[in-house]
Amino acid sequence: MTDTTTIELTDDVRWINVCYPHEERHEHVSVYLIEHGDRSILIDSGSFYHRTDIRTRLERATGGDGIDAIVLSHSDYPHSGNISAFRDEWGEVELVASSGSPELQGLADARRCTIGGSLEVCGRRFSFIDPPLADRSHTTWIYDHGSEVLFTADGFGSYHEPGDCDTVSSGFDDGITETAIYEYHRHNLVWLRYVDPPKLRDALDEIFARYDVSFIAPIHGHPIHGDDRRQYCTRLLNAADRIASEHTVPETPD
Ligand SMILES: [Zn+2]
Ligand SMILES: [Zn+2]
Repeated sequence: MTDTTTIELTDDVRWINVCYPHEERHEHVSVYLIEHGDRSILIDSGSFYHRTDIRTRLERATGGDGIDAIVLSHSDYPHSGNISAFRDEWGEVELVASSGSPELQGLADARRCTIGGSLEVCGRRFSFIDPPLADRSHTTWIYDHGSEVLFTADGFGSYHEPGDCDTVSSGFDDGITETAIYEYHRHNLVWLRYVDPPKLRDALDEIFARYDVSFIAPIHGHPIHGDDRRQYCTRLLNAADRIASEHTVPETPD
């Protein structure tokens, strides 16, 4: 079926991109749809503000069947805002989350995934990675073994120009700009100022040595094609250096 309202990343993974204005630019608050045989798995549920838009696009992409499972990267509202609505709509939607206290977060019947572990969801294997870029505990990066897409929650984001809402990294002449990466991370991941950039680099290298990645799929940015990963990582580490240097505590004289 041809569906032009979602963007195909791999044979079975689609980007459902929605965004907010952020000052002069935009910030994505996306979700991703994985088709596994006749089952459909949604990564995150998106923001309440985009509910109608996301629901319409899911309807279309699934031929009206809706989704069978939601795998949540973390339970912040822009990621979890549509869980109840989608379950009301399509019923029997399995919820998978890493929350330490799912009942406190309204996720009482969630199946718990362990960060560092793996699970089958609708017969498809996912691994749950402890992210070096996260500002909350119980956030996980989700690796889909079938497509080799790594869903990175709030990590790997960037702001975008109003004309670039649909653009994947490979659609830019020179990739995602360092400025867009820097501004997003400075604004959203404020704790980055305390991070030692070489340690961040080592942590990322370790993940990419272990997992082959066809796409990095952030919730708040352009999907990054595997071929563009090194360029993005170089720019991210430069941005982390810059953020750390802006917050160096001056030495006090004796
Ligand atoms: Zn977020
Ligand atoms: Zn946009």
